[in-house]
Amino acid sequence: MKSFEELEQDALKRNIPVMQKEGILFLISQLKQIDAKNCLEIGSAIGYSAMMMVTHVEDLKIDTIELNEERYNEAVKNIKERGLEDRISIFHDDALTFDESRLKYAPYDCLFIDAAKAQYQKFFEKYIPLVLNNGIVIVDNLDFHGMIFDIDHIKNRNTKQLVKKIKRFKDWIFNHEDYDVHYYGVGDGICVIKRKGK
Ligand code: SAH
Ligand code: MG
Repeated sequence: MKSFEELEQDALKRNIPVMQKEGILFLISQLKQIDAKNCLEIGSAIGYSAMMMVTHVEDLKIDTIELNEERYNEAVKNIKERGLEDRISIFHDDALTFDESRLKYAPYDCLFIDAAKAQYQKFFEKYIPLVLNNGIVIVDNLDFHGMIFDIDHIKNRNTKQLVKKIKRFKDWIFNHEDYDVHYYGVGDGICVIKRKGK
């Protein structure tokens, strides 16, 4: 069986954007800080981040959703191999249309959004009602490899569109009157969102 390190390296080789080491350690520290008991992850890929979270945060349980069938199957296999299926429940579906009543551990201390970047606001709006009042939302990949800081110089049209959408989400959430947002330049740019006054 592969170590977590090997899983991460193997995924990166195949261009599966698993969370960078620094980012995952940051995520784990945030979960520990709020003594999180459960988390909803959007975008499981091969299960790497979910498995890292449950093995580093005591008693944490995770619901996670993955759209891509191949990755979902690989995640199921990885989770089973490590005997973590009683702490991670994984769903093969599009998180945008997913029936929330199927989720096992709601409501959540933490929502972790790490899927299609153009849809961040939609994921946020759909799942924020499932986050406890004093819970947190963590969003990954807000820098888009630094491109977000230099949109005018992006040549590729699709990339430019995508980066603009990430920027739009950032502007929207940072200016939202209901939430406090903290940005951290960790990994590919992470923000932590809390309800105001919590
Ligand atoms: N959290 C993982 C990495 C996720 S990569 C880790 O760090 O280990 C992003 C994943 O989101 C991809 O596997 C992609 O297939 C998935 N994804 C994209 N759009 C989605 C959607 N609408 N619903 C569910 N998963 C989605
Ligand atoms: Mg990511």
